[in-house]
Amino acid sequence: MNKERSKIISKSGYLFIATNLLLAILNAAIGLISNSLAILSDATHSIIDSVSELLIVISEKLANHKKFTEKREHIERVTTIVIALIIIVTGIHIIIESIEEIIEPEEADYSPVTIAILIISILIKYILAKYLKNTGKKYDSKVLTASGAETMNDTWISIAVFVSAIIYLVFGVDIEAYISIFIALIIVKIGLEFIFPKLSSHHHHPLEQNPDHRIHHHK
Ligand SMILES: [Zn+2]
Repeated sequence: MNKERSKIISKSGYLFIATNLLLAILNAAIGLISNSLAILSDATHSIIDSVSELLIVISEKLANHKKFTEKREHIERVTTIVIALIIIVTGIHIIIESIEEIIEPEEADYSPVTIAILIISILIKYILAKYLKNTGKKYDSKVLTASGAETMNDTWISIAVFVSAIIYLVFGVDIEAYISIFIALIIVKIGLEFIFPKLSSHHHHPLEQNPDHRIHHHK
């Protein structure tokens, strides 16, 4: 495995973190302006994806540079579980808010700017997913390929948010609380995968060894 390959892989990780952070900020802004629970839930999902990846990058950096100690592993484990619990509580919070919204609907107000930013977000996610998939294939990286597949799923979720806004604008039917519940369930799943790495087949598991680096580890 050459240097260029691992450089590209870690750069793609940073690209993933930065892009999701940007999407989170953009969507949090239009979610608040348009009073849309679905858009805010999607923004929360982006923050969580970004933070998860950051945690994985930090955990790998530590694994590469520092000597393995039992204390370090313990700190890493506790940190991961605390973050996992925050993620799960966030998901449950969104579910409760969504149920309240179903019982007592609040009107969303989608402006043309909001719709435009939703479309731009979908395009950004799609391009990121394609990039991760292609780079993963080119450099034979399981992590990047999985990350690309996950980003493609996230693109479909954003498309669902966009479609729910269009349905509301055209037919006056409000389904965004249901979309929010779906997004919240995905958020809870990410948190659970942090605690139980065996549940996941993709990149949301900082405690598991990176399959791309497996060959280099000696125990
Ligand atoms: Zn995701």
